Amino acid sequence: MFFKSLRNKIKWIILILLFVIVFSVSRSPLIVDDVHPSYDCPSLLAKADVLYVTPLLNRESISEKKEWCSYIVSLNKTLGLHGITHSYHEFEEDVTKEDLDVAIDIFESCFNETPTLFRPPYNAISDANRELVESFDMAIYTKPYISHPYCHCEPHGYMKALNWLILC
Ligand SMILES: [Zn+2]
Repeated sequence: MFFKSLRNKIKWIILILLFVIVFSVSRSPLIVDDVHPSYDCPSLLAKADVLYVTPLLNRESISEKKEWCSYIVSLNKTLGLHGITHSYHEFEEDVTKEDLDVAIDIFESCFNETPTLFRPPYNAISDANRELVESFDMAIYTKPYISHPYCHCEPHGYMKALNWLILC
């Protein structure tokens, strides 16, 4: 009886360990979406590897927040562009070259670097917009949550649970 319960315990420990390993590998590198000065998630930003920044969220330009820009640069993380204004399915709608140009200019004036990574809001992007983004020499990252879980700086609704689940 004792051995049976011990065996069960060991089985559980191994299962939990496996889960933790699979889970940590799957969320690596640790991505944070929706990075913008109007959202506050300092501990998450500090432990993340890649920060995806939205330059014009709620019509607020990141380039006007110089102190915030320096703070983000000082974290020394890989930075990517996460949409322009982050409207619903923004990159499934028509996006002009000029719009994207403005977003990249804002990103550059804030961080003093050109974005080379792009992540469409809601992970949704049309073929035409994919071509447009690639014409700016940005690599597009659209791996679904299930194969690479990621964190949100300001999670809403069920995303709060997702942040909690993957220890954001
Ligand atoms: Zn987002």
